[in-house]
Parts: sequence; C-alpha cells; structure tokens
Amino acid sequence: MSFVLHGLGVSGGIAIGHAHLVTSTSLEVDHYQIPAEFVTKEVKRFDRAIKQVRSELDQLESDIHTSHRGDATADMAAFVTVHRMILEDPSFAEAPKDIIRRDTCNAEWALKLQLDEILAHFAEVQDEYLRERKTDVRQVAERVVAALSGAGGQGSAVPEKLRARAEDTILVAKDLSPADVILFKDHQVAAFVTDLGGSTSHTAILARSLKIPAIVALHTSRELLREDELIIVDGTQGAVIVDPDETVLAEYRLKQHQWKLERQKLARIKTAATETLDGVRVELHANIELPSDLDAVRQSGAAGVGLFRSEFLFMNRKDLPNEEEQFEAYRAVAEGMKGKPVVIRTLDIGADKSLDNGPDQPAPTSALGLRAIRYCLAEPGIFNTQLRAILRASRYGDVRILIPMLASWTEIKQTLLAVARAKEQLKDENRKFTGEIQVGGMIEIPAAAIALPMFLKQLDFLSIGTNDLIQYTLAIDRTDDTVAHLYDPLHPAVLHLVSTVIRQANMAGVPVAVCGEMAGDVHLTRLLLGFGLRHFSMHPANLLPVKQRVLMSSLSEIDPAVAKILRTDDPEKLRSMVEKLNL
Ligand code: PEP
Ligand code: MG
Repeated sequence: MSFVLHGLGVSGGIAIGHAHLVTSTSLEVDHYQIPAEFVTKEVKRFDRAIKQVRSELDQLESDIHTSHRGDATADMAAFVTVHRMILEDPSFAEAPKDIIRRDTCNAEWALKLQLDEILAHFAEVQDEYLRERKTDVRQVAERVVAALSGAGGQGSAVPEKLRARAEDTILVAKDLSPADVILFKDHQVAAFVTDLGGSTSHTAILARSLKIPAIVALHTSRELLREDELIIVDGTQGAVIVDPDETVLAEYRLKQHQWKLERQKLARIKTAATETLDGVRVELHANIELPSDLDAVRQSGAAGVGLFRSEFLFMNRKDLPNEEEQFEAYRAVAEGMKGKPVVIRTLDIGADKSLDNGPDQPAPTSALGLRAIRYCLAEPGIFNTQLRAILRASRYGDVRILIPMLASWTEIKQTLLAVARAKEQLKDENRKFTGEIQVGGMIEIPAAAIALPMFLKQLDFLSIGTNDLIQYTLAIDRTDDTVAHLYDPLHPAVLHLVSTVIRQANMAGVPVAVCGEMAGDVHLTRLLLGFGLRHFSMHPANLLPVKQRVLMSSLSEIDPAVAKILRTDDPEKLRSMVEKLNL
C-alpha cells in the first residue's frame, strides 16, 4: 500500500531506492544467520571479543594507576572493577554463545538478545544503586560490540554492511550521529532518513556535504518502513513516498532528471567572477570536515576554505590525533588550496559532536557545557598540540585560525596567549611557521554578538556561526526534533543580531563572514547581502546555487528592501518581505 511520510528535508534532491533499516548506536546491531558450519567460528569470534575487552579493561586499570588523578583514582578503579565483574559473569560471557548455537545467528545479535534479557531483570530491581548499574551493563556490551567489529576483521558495522549493498540503498535509522554519517563518505548511499534530528544538526550538515538527499524528524519511519521496500526520498520537500505506483515513479524519475540537469547547468558558472549585477565582489568559501572534502571544494569553484571543522579528525577513533597527524591533515588542505585562504577552526567538540569514549577521550558534554574553546582551555595540552600543528602547516598556504564559541574577554585573552605560547615553543625548536597568522573568532553565542567591540579589538576577523547563534538565542536545541519547528533563522532577534554584527564589523574594518547554514541557504542570500555581508562560507554543494543568486542580484534594489525588513516587527510580514526579495 502506498503512503507518504513527512519530515524535515535537510538535504535536497531525489533518490529512488530500497529501504535499509540500520541502527546507529553500537547496541542496535545487525541480525543475520550464520551457516551451521560457521557456528563454531562465530562462537570463537565472540570469545575473542570478550578477551579483547578484558585486556582493554586491564589497560584502563593500569592507566588509572599510573596517571595520578588523586581522588578520582579510587572512583575510576571501582568503575573498572564493576565492568570486569559484569564481563566475567556467565550470563554475559557465556549465555550469548548458547544463543549463537541455538539460533545460528551472529554474535552481535546473540549479545543483544542476552542484554535485553539482563536489562529486563534490572527493571524489577528495587535497589537504586543496582538499578543504575544498567548503564554499566550497556557500556560493557558496547565495548564487546566494538571489539566484535574488530574481531571479525571489519571496520564499523555501518560501512561494512553498505559495502555489500547496491547503490540504491536508502538508509533508514532512528538517528545517526555525525560520526556515523562521516563513515558513509566512502560508500554508495542514495539517501538517508531518520526519525530524530534537526535541520542544522551536524548530521544534516554532513548529508548536504555528501550531496545526498536526506530527511530528518520523520518520527515513525522505523516503524512504518520495511526492509527492502521501494521508497522515494524527496529531500527538497521532506517527503518519503512509500511503495509508489508506476505513475508516481515516472513522475519522480523525471524530477530527478531535472534536478541533475539543474546541477549540470550550475557547473557552467563555476569559473565566473562572483559579483552582483552592480559589480560588487562577493567571496564564497567552502566548509569542510576532512581533507578528503577538497575534491568537492575544487568542483564548487570556492575561493577558499572558510571553515575546516577540525573536530572531525578526532572522531571515529579511540585516541586523539597527535601533532604529526594533525599537521599532515592541515598541510594537505593548505597545499590543496594552492594559496587560497584556509580557515582552520580549532577543536569544537561537545554537544552532538562527542568523541568515542576511548580511555584518552573526553566524555560527551552538553551544548551549554564544556564545549569547543571551553574544553580546549581546560585541556591546554590538547589545545597546544593542535595550535602547533596548525602553525606548522601555515607555511604551506594561507592558513588562518578560527576559535569557536568565544564568549568572554578572558577566553579571548587566554586563547591568544595559547597561540603566542605555541609560537614561542616552535621558535625555540627552530621550526618554521607564519608569524603573522591571523586569529579570528566565531560569533555564535549571543553574548559575543552583543558585546562585539571586545571581539573587534582583539581579533583579526570574525565568522558568524548562525547555527549555534540561533540555537542559543532562541534556546532551541538544534538536534532536538521536538522543537525543530521553532528553530527560525528569520526570527527578528536573530536578524537583529546577525545584521548588527555585520554592520559593526564593516564599520570597524574587521573582515566578517557567515559560516553557518544561513550562508548556504539560497533564500537568504539577498537578505545577507542587504545586511552588508560580502563573505559567505558554506557547504560546497550549496556554493553554485548561492553564486547564481549573487550573480542575479542588484544591491541597489536589495538594500532599501532589507532596510525595511529590519524595521518590521511583524514576523509574518517580515517573512513575506524576505520571500519577495527572492522574486
Ligand atoms: C555554526 O554554529 O553556525 C557553525 C558554523 O559551527 P557548527 O555548525 O560546526 O557548530
Ligand atoms: Mg557552531
């Protein structure tokens, strides 16, 4: 039976393919049958994973004792003891093997079945302390699942599965973390849809950079869609058409073809100078997550990399990248851009970009917690390593440093001191770097936008991170689908902050860019031009459509209309005025 599901289209385009229901967290695992003759092998694979986790816990214990952390030592040692007890319990280490033999299923699935059983018992436990151990059981199970993917000689469960699938696979997940999505980069996926997520979550941003249609906040897709079912994903409209008939299929094949033609047409303006009809130059830069995005950047004709989200170098791994590894990555981007500007943002972890919880990794934090520069200033060693790597890479191109989530004078001071210290160290070691490297700050916390003069005085350039600026101004968690409808770039408070920052920076002669998703939204291009913005940074996939809009815009028409928009306090009127701007 054919039906349509509606969600939030976060990456445009049309995909026609077969649903593949995946699970993103390590405990939502695949289920497949094992031929009878491989059952013993599968049991051994499970044993190997248990053994590996045992030695991981041993390692963790010795790390705790050697890294004198005072009072924390006892707590952490107790935590390892609990985890070891769980691991060694026969209900954990033995029972799944019986399930593998009984059901001839894969080890991950057997572990999951057993885990469900154990967790069900916990629900009946009255003692609060014991009830809380549920989390520990899950964590140990996660470790075993991670070890299983290694024990089978495989990487992550997600790409492994994809490797075996056809190109028309459409992933259907409850949720995908940015770390999950980054793993799709090397695999053929036609589209993805999730039940949770917001439009500027990092997961959505990655979908756009992958140039695949994506829809989030569908709520019930995991319940309503079946494995291998034929579906159409219309990422532009946010619609999933399930089990379409021939007429609908033909209609969407045509739309898909038109979309592709449109993209090809855009490619023709790639080398044209970016200027408005009245001859005003505009800089369009690209946002990247990894050096491997450089191809897309080149194809888009970007004049530089306006935002290199360096935290993606730190994801999908259990350790932190050392100075050499980071240096190589930054150098590759600097060299790859052949002298065009490359803005490297320092580590912005926290909120939805949490790292794997390996022994060296920080624990996940909230959007209001120890995120981004707050984390880096609290971990001077990690920050210093990154700054040294960026400084060393600065010789290979036009590299600039961008600091995320600055809010206070002290943070700016401490950051600049950290940069100066890293330079001193390199000088003492006779290592080469660009002494005059520019240091800029992201304006993404309302406090920063409101107290802008203190940023203008101390920093070389600014970049407005509208994704977070909107999140913090409107108090809307950008990853929470239940409030996604309230996430509004056209809220008068947002427009006021963005336009004021641009105006003040222009007046002070400090270069200012917008690097949040607003910069890549073609419906907002003219509005931002009218605010005085001349520098946009966005996903490479959005660059040519935005360029086309710039080429067809005349500031002499836009400016008075935008001035009127800024004076309007009726949100509906404002919305229709912005729409008119695009006609
Ligand atoms: C932003 O907040 O707008 C931004 C560009 O940074 P990120 O999306 O990585 O938080
Ligand atoms: Mg941000």
